[in-house]
Amino acid sequence: MPADQDLIGIAAVTAAHFCPLRLYLDRQEEHEEPPRYAVCKQVSYHLGAPFDPAAVWEEVLAVLPYAAEEERALFAQCMDACKGKEWIAFSDSDVPVSSGRLGIRGTVDKADPALPGFAITRSSEAPNAGVHAVDRLRIACYTACVRETLGIDVPGGWVEYIPSGVLRFCTPGPRDRRAMLRAIAAAKEVEAGKIPKKPLNPPCTRCPQQERCAPGPRRLSELL
Ligand code: SF4
Repeated sequence: MPADQDLIGIAAVTAAHFCPLRLYLDRQEEHEEPPRYAVCKQVSYHLGAPFDPAAVWEEVLAVLPYAAEEERALFAQCMDACKGKEWIAFSDSDVPVSSGRLGIRGTVDKADPALPGFAITRSSEAPNAGVHAVDRLRIACYTACVRETLGIDVPGGWVEYIPSGVLRFCTPGPRDRRAMLRAIAAAKEVEAGKIPKKPLNPPCTRCPQQERCAPGPRRLSELL
């Protein structure tokens, strides 16, 4: 079994799934948690029990002291979307999990062995049906990790789309697990220092690294 520091983060696996070059370029920058996620995460902590929206907004301000109108508007949207819906109350939040078998690790947003079940929190809008492809990959990774670390034997997990007020269950299939294995292998190569090739037909129009990637990947030493 690999040591903890040798396990690949699930965030790196999803970046490699999008495009291995994106993971390579992401690795060369500092990344802060997006404010959008911080707002949704704070709302999510309170779902499944009565809560006071004003008190939750105070918590958001404690986490994001420079929250602006954009975050305030998102918070109001989340409040509107989430109220009056059925939410599951999980016993634990932010639980570190890993799979030595797959060589991955992450922090699952919610878990409860008694349900049994787990959930991930997303700050994106829900698709019309089901869950986004990248969330299927996340759920495939976390299902393996919560089984191995927490002994929670479930076929899949819940995805909370907070801005839409939507909770959906995802059961990964063989196709998702194949995508997961390919993404883990690609992420391991990048973590080992290999510069990935530009894949065929990459999703460049949706890529936040488009500008840096345009001339082709460069070695870290050239970027410093
Ligand atoms: S711009 Fe395209 S090739 Fe470059 S990292 Fe993004 S998806 Fe990959």
